[in-house]
Amino acid sequence: MPGEPLAVEEEALPLQGAYIDEKGLVRSQVFGLKVFDRYKKQVYVRQVKNIELIKPGTIVEAYVEAVTDELAFLKIYSVEGQRVEASGIIHVSQASNEFTQSLLGAIRPGDFVKAKVLNNSIPYQLTIKEPGLGVIEAYCSVCGSPLYKSNDKLVCNTCGNIEKRKTSLNYIHVSR
Ligand SMILES: [Zn+2]
Repeated sequence: MPGEPLAVEEEALPLQGAYIDEKGLVRSQVFGLKVFDRYKKQVYVRQVKNIELIKPGTIVEAYVEAVTDELAFLKIYSVEGQRVEASGIIHVSQASNEFTQSLLGAIRPGDFVKAKVLNNSIPYQLTIKEPGLGVIEAYCSVCGSPLYKSNDKLVCNTCGNIEKRKTSLNYIHVSR
């Protein structure tokens, strides 16, 4: 996973897909498999692509990187439990069955979503319209705490902020 610690500076030199942070830890830059050569004292990350798994109708998990009124830009990271790395986009017309004026009323940067693939090429076009699809995990835009689903809304238990998303039935944090 990007950011995951792989080694300490003294153990191994980071090659492709790895870097040294300010504390001297070697961390991964990409999704992939860690390759640690103890004899050569080198560590690198072999990128995992697996994009052949992505087809129209495939359900993927993706991280929202940026959102405008009309388009959201995502990084697809998982297909059926397999690590992948591919770009996805969601058009405002694919966010909800209700009329959505801006995509920002449905998804926001930093959200994790479950989505269905509509096409066969990069960037993959995704839809989150169906009840099982949509945001599965989101964090408060004020304080960064997890947002909890309560009826139609997402509520921050830390600062009381209330936000709106097109959530999936599989949303992770549910208010008790
Ligand atoms: Zn908050």
